[in-house]
Amino acid sequence: MSMDKLEKQLTDKKINPTAMRLLILKFLKQQNGAVSLADIESSFEQSDRVTIYRTVKTFESKGLLHSITTNNVTQYALCSQECDANSHHDTHLHFVCSSCKKTICLTQVSIPQIEIPQGFQLDDIEIVAKGICRECKS
Ligand SMILES: [Zn+2]
Ligand SMILES: [Zn+2]
Ligand SMILES: [Zn+2]
Repeated sequence: MSMDKLEKQLTDKKINPTAMRLLILKFLKQQNGAVSLADIESSFEQSDRVTIYRTVKTFESKGLLHSITTNNVTQYALCSQECDANSHHDTHLHFVCSSCKKTICLTQVSIPQIEIPQGFQLDDIEIVAKGICRECKS
């Protein structure tokens, strides 16, 4: 993937393409699954943790990344094209492989809308599928 393409992906989401942001985006695109902040930090040991944290938060707020929280661990995965700064549309199922421990976006499997009783305020729903991923199974 060329730097031009990465740069366009950032500017499309109205993110200023700094060198650090480009490197983090490149790293994210190389993963075949979600990554935690610690995963990113360990790949960019020379970089300041605050910068990495801010980059991830910027990406999330601009609709480039979405977060998945399982067992109190937050991981991040790249969004679909439809996400933007105002809203995320990542209503797909996430699959946690018990063998390789990866969290994978199953973008083709959408989570149905859930109705909750009146008087409750819904902030977030955590639904994850667990099992063995395709790569570990083959
Ligand atoms: Zn999103
Ligand atoms: Zn696996
Ligand atoms: Zn996802």
